[in-house]
Amino acid sequence: QCAAVCPTGAIVVKNDADEVWKALDDRNTSVTVQVAPAVRVAIGKEFGLPDGENAIGRIAAALRRMNFDRIYDTSTGADLTVLEESEELLERLSAENGTMPMFTSCCPAWVNYCEKSHPDLLPHISTCRSPMQMLASVIKEQKDLPNKKRVHVAVMPCTAKKFEASRSEFTKDGSPNVDYVITTQELIQMIKESGIVFSELEPEAMDLPLGINTGAGVIFGVTGGVTEAVLRRLYAEKSMAGLFAITYKDVRGLEGVKKATIQVGEKELKIAIVSGLKNASELVKQMKSGEEHFDFIEVMACPGGCINGAGQPYGSSSEVAARGKGLYSADKLSAIKRSEENPLMNELYGGILKGRVHELLHVEY
Ligand code: SF4
Repeated sequence: QCAAVCPTGAIVVKNDADEVWKALDDRNTSVTVQVAPAVRVAIGKEFGLPDGENAIGRIAAALRRMNFDRIYDTSTGADLTVLEESEELLERLSAENGTMPMFTSCCPAWVNYCEKSHPDLLPHISTCRSPMQMLASVIKEQKDLPNKKRVHVAVMPCTAKKFEASRSEFTKDGSPNVDYVITTQELIQMIKESGIVFSELEPEAMDLPLGINTGAGVIFGVTGGVTEAVLRRLYAEKSMAGLFAITYKDVRGLEGVKKATIQVGEKELKIAIVSGLKNASELVKQMKSGEEHFDFIEVMACPGGCINGAGQPYGSSSEVAARGKGLYSADKLSAIKRSEENPLMNELYGGILKGRVHELLHVEY
C-alpha cells in the first residue's frame, strides 16, 4: 500500500485500491460503489477523451467489468441533500431563535477546518450529512444483495473524503458506512491494472433501485452547484424561466467568492458561495467583524469546487473550467432538473427513511 499526504486535510492517507481488489475477488462479499459527480468529468483525459467529457456511462461499464455488484451515482445522495438542506434552511429561518447564518456541510475539509479553527461556527453548519454519507446510509439499508458480507466503496475527487469516511459519526453497528474511499486517480490506476480499454467501452447505466438522479445532484461537483440546486428547490417559480433566473443570479462561475441576493417567499436571502479555504477564512473574518452579512454560505475547500479536488488528475485552469462546463452540460441533458422531482425520493421517504430521516441523513459535529 502506498501513502500520500492530503493537501487540504494535512493528514497522511492511504491508497485502499488493494483492499478493494481483495473485496472484489471474494465471492462471499457483495461490493457496492458510488461515484461522485466531479469524477465523471476529470477521468477521461487520462484515457484520451476530451477534457470535461462526461464519462459516467463508461465509468459504470468499467466498474461492472471490475466485478462491482451495484453501481450508484453520488448525485442521488446529492438529491437527498438538497431536500434536507433546503428544509433545514427554511426551518432555521422561520424559528424564533433559529441559528443563522447556515453554512453548507458537504465538504469534509471545510468541516474539519471549522472544528480546528472556528468551533464557535459548528452550530451554524448544516446538520445534513454529505451526499456520499447520505447515499451510503441508504445503501446500507438495501436488502437486495446476494451476500451477507458487504463492502461499500466511494469513488471521490479528494483525499479528505477518506478522512470523512473514517469518522465515528458515520458508522453502523461498529462498521463504517463507507468502507473504502478511492480517489479518481486511484480508480484510473485500477482501470489500467484491469486492462480495460476505457475509451472503447460502451456507456452503461447505473443500477436500480437507487440509480435515479437529477441534474441538480450532478452540479454539486462545481462551486455554486449546491446553492443552485437548493435554490431550484426553494424558488417559487417552477417553470424553465425560473431555472434560468437562478442561473443568472451570479451562482455560476469559478470565482473564489460570489455573492447573490434571492427572494425566498417573503424573505430576501443573502447568499455567499466560496471556494478555496483561504477565501473561506477571509469571509468568516469579515462576517465576524460585522463587515459582511449572509444567510446562506456554500463553502468548498478546493478552488472551483470538487472538479479541482486533490484526488483528481492535475488540471490546468482551462481544464478545470472544461470540467465545470461538462457538469452543466450533463445537467442540461438530464430529463429531471430538480431534486424534488426525482421519483426515487418519494419512494425513499415513504420507505427506508420513514421515521428515520434524522438517524440516516443528519449528523452533528
Ligand atoms: Fe473534497 Fe475539495 Fe470537494 Fe471539499 S471541495 S469535498 S475537499 S474535492
